[in-house]
Amino acid sequence: MDYRLPTTVVPRRYDLRLEPDLATATFAGEAVITVDVETTLTEIVLNAAELQIQSASVARNGGVPIHGSITLDEAAERARLVFPAAIAPGEWRLMLRFTGVLNDRLHGFYRSTYKDAAGQPHTIAATQFEATDARRGFPCWDEPAFKAVFGVTLVVPEHLAAVSNTAVVRDEPLGNGRKAIAFADTIRMSTYLVAFVVGELEATDPVMVGRTPLKVWCVPGKKQLARFALAIGAFALDFFEGYYGLPYPGDKVDLLAIPDFAAGAMENLGAITFRENALLVDEAAASHSELERIADVVAHEVAHMWFGDLVTMTWWNGIWLNEAFATFMELLAVDAWKPEWKRWVTFGVSRAAAMAIDGLEATRPIEFEVRNPHDCVAMFDLLTYEKGASTLRMLEQHLDPAVFRDGVRLYLERHRFANAETTDLWKALGDAARQPIPAVMDGWIFKPGYPLVTVEPDGTGVKLSQRRFSYLGGETDAGQRWRIPVVLRASVKHGYVERRLLLDGDTATVPLPAKADWVVVNSGGSGFYRVRYASPLLKKLAGSAGKIAPIERFNLVSDSFALAQAGLMPATEFLDLTARFRAETDRNVWTALTSSLAYVNRVIADEQRGGLEALVRHRLADAAERLGWEPQEDETELDRQLRGDLLRALGTLGNDEAVQSRARTVYARYREDEGSVDANVLPAVIAILAASGEESEYAEFRDRFKRARTPQEEQRYLYALAGFRQPELLRQTLEMTVNGEVRSQDAPFVIRALLTSVDSRGLAWDFVKTHWQAMAQQYPESAYRRMYEGVPALVSPEWERDVRAFFADNKIDLGGRTLQQYLEHLRVAVAFQQREAEPLAAYLSRQKSR
Ligand SMILES: [Zn+2]
Repeated sequence: MDYRLPTTVVPRRYDLRLEPDLATATFAGEAVITVDVETTLTEIVLNAAELQIQSASVARNGGVPIHGSITLDEAAERARLVFPAAIAPGEWRLMLRFTGVLNDRLHGFYRSTYKDAAGQPHTIAATQFEATDARRGFPCWDEPAFKAVFGVTLVVPEHLAAVSNTAVVRDEPLGNGRKAIAFADTIRMSTYLVAFVVGELEATDPVMVGRTPLKVWCVPGKKQLARFALAIGAFALDFFEGYYGLPYPGDKVDLLAIPDFAAGAMENLGAITFRENALLVDEAAASHSELERIADVVAHEVAHMWFGDLVTMTWWNGIWLNEAFATFMELLAVDAWKPEWKRWVTFGVSRAAAMAIDGLEATRPIEFEVRNPHDCVAMFDLLTYEKGASTLRMLEQHLDPAVFRDGVRLYLERHRFANAETTDLWKALGDAARQPIPAVMDGWIFKPGYPLVTVEPDGTGVKLSQRRFSYLGGETDAGQRWRIPVVLRASVKHGYVERRLLLDGDTATVPLPAKADWVVVNSGGSGFYRVRYASPLLKKLAGSAGKIAPIERFNLVSDSFALAQAGLMPATEFLDLTARFRAETDRNVWTALTSSLAYVNRVIADEQRGGLEALVRHRLADAAERLGWEPQEDETELDRQLRGDLLRALGTLGNDEAVQSRARTVYARYREDEGSVDANVLPAVIAILAASGEESEYAEFRDRFKRARTPQEEQRYLYALAGFRQPELLRQTLEMTVNGEVRSQDAPFVIRALLTSVDSRGLAWDFVKTHWQAMAQQYPESAYRRMYEGVPALVSPEWERDVRAFFADNKIDLGGRTLQQYLEHLRVAVAFQQREAEPLAAYLSRQKSR
């Protein structure tokens, strides 16, 4: 089937009037679409889904309308309008009357519900049109290249607020308890960026950023949680106007918190929608991670106002450019806002997550063919966002940040109000840098995977060689090569030497002035490749880990564990390496260490768990003791977060009884005096209590989840319900994911957490097998597929067979290559288990005696 619309009719302007009825969850609409007809025709085809179109007619300026017949093709999501007379080339007005449903699937024009403090239910109507769901809100040419101007009017009951992309220009009472709110014309933009939100919402006072008013909207009673988002929102808007060298393209910015929201947020021009926990927060009661997430998401969406909204990809294969760029810019802005957060170091965690997928045979190139809407959903993944952002960061560092910025400015200037392709960005960057960009970048963007760079001693210097990294491929080399901007730093007698080179062949030798104490490759950490050091070099580097940068230590741990997963380093050697990091002070390095140990925990047999727990306690003890339980005067926000991370890992993965007992004392104190527990420690305490708790804690947490005062509190208690260990409690949590107690936006992620934990994975998998059809119907499509991300934790040959049979028998397709990736992750884990079971058992049994 061809999913692209014919280009014989091109929309220029939509005048839309929509009237949602929140009580019956329906809406009625009228669209007057000004179109250019390119050739004589009798038929117009446009997109429509789940809409009833009552009438369609076309007219020329002042002419008599020609009424057409309407055929809806639900499978193709199209309306075919056939007219009895020929429509000649030129400008026409297409008039449509239609009705639709405010659905519960969190896409298109949909219904979100919430209860107020008194327990009364309320409804909001909101939109989520990306990627291809504007067609559920109004008939349209629902492809990003069909940009048009939108003039929107919303007809709503007088007591409700209505928000769209632009400022209100008219608000007139209709006399029957309703009002018509008309919004200013938008810029020329794509349909997926149109937004309508209607409900009992309240807004903060505006913050003025230059001439642009910025506000946060939320359900009544939550305005006091908007301060943090306003601060980063205002900073980001100002920062991007400076960076891009172009004023904000709209006339206002509204940030709206929607109680039910499938993604994290959506960059509708001027009306950015968020899930509540990505926007609203009580700053004083939030952990660093929770604040960082909000800063990231707000900065990301504001970055899109130019990159994505003002200049848009021509088709969905270019979505990576949109998302990778917004992710890159988000980091740049947050790093400028709070340099003490060291955001580029934490980005190492995201880069490693992308590498975990991109090391699979079932990966895809960043830019990938997208034919149908289902595959488009699959494009919103770590490769698009995180690999994309990583390669842009690598290029920025390679070219020079100021040159890169000039290229971006040139690109936006050339293509504003229009669409562009990846090659257009390379052209602009190349013009700014006076060098061809595709030569360096094509290998990273249009080909799958990434290189493994092997480093060996060579005289006084080193020899580098490259081949593709693959978890399952081991030592095989299919000949794929990249142009790798390598930065190398060596410690020699009189200090450090740095070498920069473009490794574009099989090998390169790098002479050094003298024999080095140690050599670190991928110095600075922004290269999207892994490094394998020959044994003597690894020993020296690991022994000097305190002298290299945190991101370099992070990569050392992350790369080494990947080598162990790929069978290129014995797992026990990796576990030995972790002992070198007991004095580690960086939070991200600890994330790499504890997540690797958690992976090992999923692979080993139950009887070895005690040994792993002892190992975890040994590795973490010194660092946790150094930080203690109470915040100290002179420490940074990152230290405070690290304290929470370490305590959590000790109390859960390490099953540390002393930590568990202390956590109970701390929680009892919290009950008496909430201010007495640090905001970074509290989430850890809750997780620890769940892992070591029983029915009474479960009942309390479930109640606190329901009565939560902030989105963060709600999330902590919700995920704690997935962290208990008793089957009868876990069964209750599973039940909550299908009985409506957990919002459909969150339920798939709770399932993912339950599938990932060694205590609940078996139960959760059985539950998924019986309930997946109900889940597929209830959960938003984009989130439903993500619950299966937990499947690779089902590490045993029996489970693997069962998992494969389940997906095959039920013909489940998750779009793109998603399912193949999950299955291959599982294959990698089972192969690791089969290879390492014996040596790990021997190694871990020695740990118990510590
Ligand atoms: Zn985005």
